[in-house]
Amino acid sequence: MRWIDKRYHTLNYELKSTFGCKVFKLSIDGGFTCPNRDGKVGSSGCIFCSESGSGEFASNRNLDIHSQLEQQVDLLMEKWPSGKYIAYFQNFTNTYSDVTDLEKKYESAISHPGVIGLAIATRPDCIPDDVLSLLDSLNKKTYLWVELGLQTMHEDTAKVIRRGYDIEVFEKTFSKLKKLGIRTVVHLILGLPGEYRAKILQSVRYVSSLNPYGVKLHLMHVLKNTDLESYYTESPFHMLSKDEYIGLVCDSLEILNPDITVHRVTGDGSKDLLIAPLWSLDKRSVLNGIDIELKRRDSFQGKFFPE
Ligand code: SF4
Repeated sequence: MRWIDKRYHTLNYELKSTFGCKVFKLSIDGGFTCPNRDGKVGSSGCIFCSESGSGEFASNRNLDIHSQLEQQVDLLMEKWPSGKYIAYFQNFTNTYSDVTDLEKKYESAISHPGVIGLAIATRPDCIPDDVLSLLDSLNKKTYLWVELGLQTMHEDTAKVIRRGYDIEVFEKTFSKLKKLGIRTVVHLILGLPGEYRAKILQSVRYVSSLNPYGVKLHLMHVLKNTDLESYYTESPFHMLSKDEYIGLVCDSLEILNPDITVHRVTGDGSKDLLIAPLWSLDKRSVLNGIDIELKRRDSFQGKFFPE
């Protein structure tokens, strides 16, 4: 098997082959908000977005960047003294500030000893030209990737989830990043309201055809205190069962370009906030289920790529 540890191209494999050691992602809260929440694009946010800006496991935003990193490094140091780190600006929109503030925060992260790269999660409608130039210069001095929350290629679903930008906006930004050689990770959510297998796999095929550096496959979660919670209560939509989800992830991996790094194949709903599907709390069993199903199919990422 091409990737040694799994039947798909994991981030773990990618980082280990690039850096020759175990690399950890450290989640940082950069203290940002989001244009889809503060009124610039929308004021209620994406329908599934939680209070913490879809970053339930990010660090404490009251601490400066250096201290947030330090706290996490201290915990890892004992077990992994020679590990390296990617500083991950995870929740809210991490390019949503003026370029001077952004530069200060990003530089503070990459100047931390042991940090060998930077991951920045954002929206494609939130990378103006001056921020793009900043990303370009960061990309020349560190291992950078930018994450874009596409979630679906389908405009009707994008409206239901209040994503707040059109697919053209995504395509324009994606191609600008690609032209500059900036690694891009595209997020997709499997099981959005009204989306079944055919629609989901269309989005996967679409992303695969763009050949980004990476992809994140999330499971649709309903979290407490989100608008999705009320939506789900008022008009319950089909929630994927564990077997359906595992089957869909395997179908997705099979049509995905094998060069694309798979950063995630499960969701990560916080135990205290998760309403459905509750089976997703047992993440290990989902991951094992994917491995078992790929083996059962004698399959792997890209088996049917190109179709
Ligand atoms: S773009 Fe991200 S932070 Fe903003 S509302 Fe949507 S999920 Fe929340």
